[in-house]
Amino acid sequence: MPRPIHATIDNQALRHNLARIRASVPNARVWAVVKANAYGHGIERTFEGLRGADGFALLDLEEAQRVRALGWRGPILLLEGVFEPRDLELCSSLSLWHTVHCDEQIDMLAAHKTHLPHRVFLKMNSGMNRLGFAPQRYRGAWARLNALAQVDEITLMTHFSDADGARGIATQMAVFGAASQDLPGERTVGNSAATLRHRDVDRVGADWVRPGIAVYGSAPDFPEHNAVTWGLQPCMTLAAKIIATQALVAGDSVGYGSTYVAGEPITVGVVACGYADGYPRSAPTGTPVLVNGIRTRTLGRVSMDMIVVDLAPVPGAGIGSEVTLWGCAASGAVLSIDEVAHSAGTVGYELMCALAPRVPVLVQ
Ligand SMILES: *Cc1c(COP(=O)(O)O)cnc(C)c1O
Repeated sequence: MPRPIHATIDNQALRHNLARIRASVPNARVWAVVKANAYGHGIERTFEGLRGADGFALLDLEEAQRVRALGWRGPILLLEGVFEPRDLELCSSLSLWHTVHCDEQIDMLAAHKTHLPHRVFLKMNSGMNRLGFAPQRYRGAWARLNALAQVDEITLMTHFSDADGARGIATQMAVFGAASQDLPGERTVGNSAATLRHRDVDRVGADWVRPGIAVYGSAPDFPEHNAVTWGLQPCMTLAAKIIATQALVAGDSVGYGSTYVAGEPITVGVVACGYADGYPRSAPTGTPVLVNGIRTRTLGRVSMDMIVVDLAPVPGAGIGSEVTLWGCAASGAVLSIDEVAHSAGTVGYELMCALAPRVPVLVQ
């Protein structure tokens, strides 16, 4: 029998979340961001749930090829653009739209031979200071691109650093708006947090929005809001089973480093899931977990292949009992990936992306 652990990907939840996002920006077209293998969910596994999007945004050319191989004929956007000149050949042959964020990418385009002009997304660095042209250089870059025979339409683009937090997006919106105001073309701003929290993204133009994390059912701004308050449903469930139990007496410890010491007699369950499956090793004692759909907590350190959980709240649990590390239990009870991530000092994004290849995945 295979080791009792698996993940489940729920395509109905993806469709639900996409509809929820559309409702919050009814006039925008929606890129489903599927970089990092659809945030760990799998591009092929999520395609049925996401094909209702207006396009797919990602950054690996290999992933773009996989989306085309699935039969997708609509837009695909490379969020970081091309990395070397021959990438442009693939953009031409697969009709990929690509971001242009630096002069070197314009140079590559100028030297590229193609019959089909490319649709490009010109990125402004409005304050994030990762990719993009400085506001005062933006117009010049636009003019250079606009003069190229290799370029078809130019969409104006920026990315917010604080859409999920207290600083918000107003300053960057103002910078982007001012430096692009009389340039023609569609605009795209807005990750999940900007799309859900800041409806005024419309003011600077949200012809396209680019949600990622919300599509997968995680709140972009946990713990200020959670998936339930945003009306999002979890798409990934990580489930395992209890493979052993131990009856501890006061003073007994659990796991490497003996970081948890029982203060009274307690039964614990050993779960077939560890950090080699993608469960975060940084999750401390007390991280929430469901056993038979009932909420309990982890005890001691996460090891490579196992974690230990408190069975006190779950009388009757034993070898073979269902453990939900995050997502939906058979009973319908939900444990948010955001809560587990928060307890481990990280974000839902990182846990999704870290789902290990050794975990078998079922698609629903
Ligand atoms: C990853 C990414 C997004 C999606 O961000 P979420 O926070 O997951 O919604 C949007 N835009 C760009 C440029 C990205 O790289």
